[in-house]
Amino acid sequence: PAAAAARLDLDGNPIAPLTICMIGAGGFIGSHLCEKLMAETNHVVYAVDVYCDKIRHLVDPAPPHLQGRISFHRLNIKNDSRLEGLIKMADLTINLAAICTPADYNTRPLDTIYSNFIDALPVVKYCSENNKRLIHFSTCEVYGKTIGSFLPTDHPLRKEAEFYVLKEDESPCIFGPIVKQRWSYACAKQLIERLIFAEGAENGLEFTIVRPFNWIGPRMDFIPGVDGPSEGVPRVLACFSNNLLRREPLKLVDGGQSQRTFVYIKDAIEAVHLMIENPARANGQIFNVGNPNNEVTVRQLAEMMTEVYANVSGEPPLDEPMIDVSSKQFYGEGYDDSDKRIPDMTIINKQLGWNPKTPLKDLLETTLTYQHKTYKEAIKRQMSQASAS
Ligand code: NAD
Repeated sequence: PAAAAARLDLDGNPIAPLTICMIGAGGFIGSHLCEKLMAETNHVVYAVDVYCDKIRHLVDPAPPHLQGRISFHRLNIKNDSRLEGLIKMADLTINLAAICTPADYNTRPLDTIYSNFIDALPVVKYCSENNKRLIHFSTCEVYGKTIGSFLPTDHPLRKEAEFYVLKEDESPCIFGPIVKQRWSYACAKQLIERLIFAEGAENGLEFTIVRPFNWIGPRMDFIPGVDGPSEGVPRVLACFSNNLLRREPLKLVDGGQSQRTFVYIKDAIEAVHLMIENPARANGQIFNVGNPNNEVTVRQLAEMMTEVYANVSGEPPLDEPMIDVSSKQFYGEGYDDSDKRIPDMTIINKQLGWNPKTPLKDLLETTLTYQHKTYKEAIKRQMSQASAS
């Protein structure tokens, strides 16, 4: 509305409306970013994806108050000549498209490398050639393993921050051998980061690289057999949710000893929103986006989710809520893992003043309430059909 005061960026300048080409807009992060931009800004979004289930409420059809603000373009960026036109018409491109589920890295390494490197190449090229800004989604996996992980388990240096805290401009990228195909994803993401960085250095591309550290919340991935393939293996949040909804023990891979920091999707989206609207502060930067205060082992995550889900659903936990499986059984040959992921927050804090807010307990409550409401009835129906037949 004309009466609304103009919104200002972090330097006090009015924010001009942007046209944004968002590739992978139909995914977990894209759906939350579309909602945020529609609710709080007047930017225009071209939402590009091969499917739109998670943004159907915004695009199919767009509700009257969003007419002209958001449009869905169903296309596969692997092979569609419309991509260049959309990037040319936009001021900013945000690329979220990727294969990014660990179960695929070692079992579909070719698809993983093509998706994360080859398919991203034309996006970078069109942005560079047309002088368009690019926000590209990489991953915290580019750091690989911590330096400390190579020391004996009881070595005192393992407790020193410089042996594990991950810094954008300082930490090395440490991957396992080629036979450990798990690293195909991290390596493809690293190479596209290097290419984007080089386009910036040699051709003046205005870019921002985002390294998400385990963003989680509603609409992440799928529940196997309900809104995704029954044999599919989603990321850990959806795997554990699926077990809880079906009253099965949670499967802990290799004892669940890996340590992760989880950040609430809505906190993380605030960071992306700041990058979009503060190009002078975000261009040329690589940003860690995570919550260093929310660190748990995967085993602790399983314990917390079990407890929170019991409260949310009113169903008591199983007598044996968890079982151990080997990574070879669960993920197959070639699996490997990073030990620990604590993001350094200095750069994003200095450039954008961003800090994560939501404690792990609270974000699990919100998320598991959503999972229970969204899936419980469908799973009950499915399980009773299966037992009847
Ligand atoms: P997601 O799988 O939910 O979303 C990716 C979307 O891209 C999907 O909707 C998919 O259909 C679309 N897509 C893939 N290939 C495409 C193609 N060829 N053409 C058109 N659309 C295509 O994943 P997400 O969690 O939203 O992740 C988005 C990005 O963030 C990815 O690049 C991922 O690597 C990165 N990332 C996310 C996390 C996280 O914590 N969620 C962590 C690290 C990195």
